[in-house]
Amino acid sequence: MTSRQTPAIVLQVRDYGEADRLVNFLTPDTGRVSGIAKHAKKSRRRFANCLEPLNRVVFHLSPRARGDLEFLQQAELVNPFPNLRRDLRRLAAAAVLAELAGELSAPVEATAAIFQTLNLALELLDGGAAPDSLLPSFLLHLSKLGGYGPHWESCRQCGREPAAPLYFSIPQGGVVCGPCSRTAIRPLLPLNPGVWKLLRLAQELPPEKLTRLRFPPPQRDQSLAIIQKFLRHHLGRDLKSWSFWEKMARG
Ligand SMILES: [Zn+2]
Repeated sequence: MTSRQTPAIVLQVRDYGEADRLVNFLTPDTGRVSGIAKHAKKSRRRFANCLEPLNRVVFHLSPRARGDLEFLQQAELVNPFPNLRRDLRRLAAAAVLAELAGELSAPVEATAAIFQTLNLALELLDGGAAPDSLLPSFLLHLSKLGGYGPHWESCRQCGREPAAPLYFSIPQGGVVCGPCSRTAIRPLLPLNPGVWKLLRLAQELPPEKLTRLRFPPPQRDQSLAIIQKFLRHHLGRDLKSWSFWEKMARG
């Protein structure tokens, strides 16, 4: 039997026993996968410079997997995204997006789009796109692909075009208008009308056009506060890399 190959984005790497490494990676066909890179600590040739988080690689997998665990035979580096690693804000935004892409338990028909969307975000960040604007936009797109994109078009309570003052209901996953805010399911977060328009547009635009959007600091902060609580509601916890992003965003 010959080995199988898959495009992959490395999510996490850790030591496994004396000689091996355990690698979590995202694939277009099956989403997040775990694999053992045997003797990766000694034999650097088969995995030269490949086993770093956020690298785009091609993995050669052993013909047989053991349950959910793949065996990595070798790897080829496709893109290490070197520029985004030189800027901690871009690196932090990339880490948050990669973690979310790995956490989405998406239907199998969405895995290819999730992979392509994360890959595009990494390419844009590597090419110099502003992480402040890219992060909220791509978080929304990944959430949508994962099956729980927020609803922006109409009030989640009355179904009408929402008029200010606007709120975002975390449990209802979308915008709520002022009159409905008394009966909407809490927690509610304030939603500035400008932020509402920006987020609505960010979720509608095709991903390759998202670099056109600008999120100045107040809009960015409100957007990310909403998205962070929304994701916590769905994932049951905060993304681990979110605190890294917050440190970098403040610095
Ligand atoms: Zn309403």
